[in-house]
Amino acid sequence: MELAGTIRQARKSISAARAAGKRIGLVPTMGALHAGHISLIEEATGRCDYVVVSIFVNPTQFGPSEDFDKYPRDVESDMNICRQSGANLIFSPSASQMYQKENITWVNVDKLTENLCGRFRPGHFRGVTTVCTKLFNIVQPDIAFFGQKDAQQAIVIKRMVADLNMPLQIVVCPTVREPDGLAVSSRNKYLSPEERKDALLLSQSFAECERLVKAGERNCKLLIGSMRKIIAQSSEAQIEYISIVDTETLADIDVIEGEALVALAVKIGSTRLIDNIIISYQPRSARRTRNEI
Ligand code: AMP
Repeated sequence: MELAGTIRQARKSISAARAAGKRIGLVPTMGALHAGHISLIEEATGRCDYVVVSIFVNPTQFGPSEDFDKYPRDVESDMNICRQSGANLIFSPSASQMYQKENITWVNVDKLTENLCGRFRPGHFRGVTTVCTKLFNIVQPDIAFFGQKDAQQAIVIKRMVADLNMPLQIVVCPTVREPDGLAVSSRNKYLSPEERKDALLLSQSFAECERLVKAGERNCKLLIGSMRKIIAQSSEAQIEYISIVDTETLADIDVIEGEALVALAVKIGSTRLIDNIIISYQPRSARRTRNEI
């Protein structure tokens, strides 16, 4: 496995792989790699011949009061994980490699970035789409891999790639969870043991939502209300949003018909966690019983 700290080094190694006819995969990350990232790298090694993992804590996607400075960084562990997962190249540039002193060119996706996290993190998705465009231009992958954990990000990136005719495929991999249901995240490291327990209320609220939908409930206000009740059991939890939205437009919906994305952002103490599930409602008449199959 190689390590490239500059764009020039990365391009040199990747173009050699491309010239050898290899299919190039890219897994963009901010490091502090964990089981979620590993699942992406393994999916990439399964589908590609040469896998690049980028590790870059991208300053332009953090707001002024967010955790850019204290975002966990662990280069040694990241290198071991990448090696063991079968990555071929780590691209780990400095901020000055990626951005000129003043960045004046941005990539913006409208509409899809207005709801959910976009409402609470102004400028966040502009930073994400801009850095992903840069990474796509530097690596020129055949496929880039993203996690369903950041559902809005994956949908925004897919749309950007389609709208700008970028010549690559986006693959979205399922959310990896701890055995007790908490979605794995680099930010889980910030949680105290007490907060870690409270964080379980998030996946419990999704389970309740799924249970209600299975029982025939389709009213989103009601479903969100029952999720809020569960999360409010923790005095440390501050709900930023709990939303049920269309899986394509990300617009809020009132009544579930077919598939919907249930997404939330909740602060446990000072740690902001996000998570989501896709639910689908099937009218009773459309549900086939065992005898009918
Ligand atoms: P990050 O380093 O947090 O920017 O994440 C890099 C990539 O890993 C993104 O595409 C995330 O959606 C994905 N990812 C993060 N956590 C998980 C998880 N628990 N399961 C699956 N993918 C994840």
